[in-house]
Amino acid sequence: MEASKKIKVLLVRPKFSSIVANLEPLGLEYIAGLCRDLGVECEIFDEFQYSRCFRFSRLSRKIEKGGYDFVGFHANANTSDYIINTSDKLKKKFPNLYIMVGGPEAELNYKDFFTDSIDLVYHDNGLNSLKNIFLEGFLPEVLNKQNGVCFKINDEWVVKEKGAPVDNFITRPDRTAFNKGLKKNFIFLKGSFAIAKASFSCPFECTFCYCTKMNSGVYTERPIMDVIDEIESIEHPRIWFVDDTFLVDKERVKRFCEVIIERKIKKHFLAYSRADFLAENPDILPLMYKAGFRDILVGLEAVSDDLLDEYNKQTSKDVNTQAIKNLADNNIVCNGLFVVSHKSSRQDFKELYRFIKKNNLLWVVFGIFTPYKGTDAYDEYKERLIKFKSKRLDGLHITIKPEKMSSFMFMVRVYMLYVLTYPKIICRTIFKTAYDTKRTGWF
Ligand code: SF4
Repeated sequence: MEASKKIKVLLVRPKFSSIVANLEPLGLEYIAGLCRDLGVECEIFDEFQYSRCFRFSRLSRKIEKGGYDFVGFHANANTSDYIINTSDKLKKKFPNLYIMVGGPEAELNYKDFFTDSIDLVYHDNGLNSLKNIFLEGFLPEVLNKQNGVCFKINDEWVVKEKGAPVDNFITRPDRTAFNKGLKKNFIFLKGSFAIAKASFSCPFECTFCYCTKMNSGVYTERPIMDVIDEIESIEHPRIWFVDDTFLVDKERVKRFCEVIIERKIKKHFLAYSRADFLAENPDILPLMYKAGFRDILVGLEAVSDDLLDEYNKQTSKDVNTQAIKNLADNNIVCNGLFVVSHKSSRQDFKELYRFIKKNNLLWVVFGIFTPYKGTDAYDEYKERLIKFKSKRLDGLHITIKPEKMSSFMFMVRVYMLYVLTYPKIICRTIFKTAYDTKRTGWF
């Protein structure tokens, strides 16, 4: 199938601060894949490849030189203000430029992008509506027939409801941007990773979680053989499954591992899991190790049952401990993810560090509790938000006043967690023992 009219599309991933990772823009690569299938000329402009200086002039030059008439921004919670401001400036400079916004923030909070300069907000599940638009044109009568799009007629926004949840992609990603950006691709101290997605949303409902609201809040899984075919075609030794939780259906995971082993696909896999799956299913871990799983990111979140209950995590401190042990026994690294609550006392910070030491947890990441707009936590805390600017929504900033200490002391204690834990990770990485899960010392 061919697109209706020759258009040139520039897909932009805005840069945001991240010292932990810089990975390929998978969402945009799926759109680039769709454009490739339809014969639409398209390029990804990944701002992560450039410095922050002269951002606007660099982007303007790109649009001008390339003769792009459509620009699509990929929006995260921490880039929405930048996108809105940049769209205003672009529209002044290029009045005929058609500006679209999509991505997770548009999917959840599409109304935030209803500005004069933005022409289309895409909040649908999956890419079917976008495919129809590319085929039939960006005309009001075409847009009016689609699901999950917002557009303007006579300066009034028209909102089309989302379509049904999706359970697969309609194309393969075009990984040109991945190959181009490989030199700058990294996860802190782990090297470069390609990313893949094997499911949509999450079957659980933690109060602070943004991911579980995706795909209309419905968890679906891609056919596992399709996922394996895609993995096999990726020419990179390390793959990160960015599924919100990859380990849900034990039989599916087993099938995945068996086929990976059968087909002799040799990769280092990294994936997210809940602690309860790991605590309850130690028998699958040897097979996962054999298939190449070396890293699991575990949402441990907290070390007190009260806080875990408050997050609606449906786990416990004991479950967390068991999950860490099961992974270590099977030589798979547990990357512990913690949410530092604004309710934490000095004692809670101490308890958290004590838990990390006691359980010989080497790899850890701390995020400050942030009630992202669209989550249940946002509804609970919206009256108490402070400095709730999009660029501060990254888990590194305070957005609710700490209850048991000053903001200054809270930040000092968060930094102290890093100071107490990261030198050891760096040291063990230098001595090439950071993946030895039985080792306890610094070397
Ligand atoms: S935090 Fe993890 S387990 Fe909880 S809803 Fe989000 S993705 Fe699911």
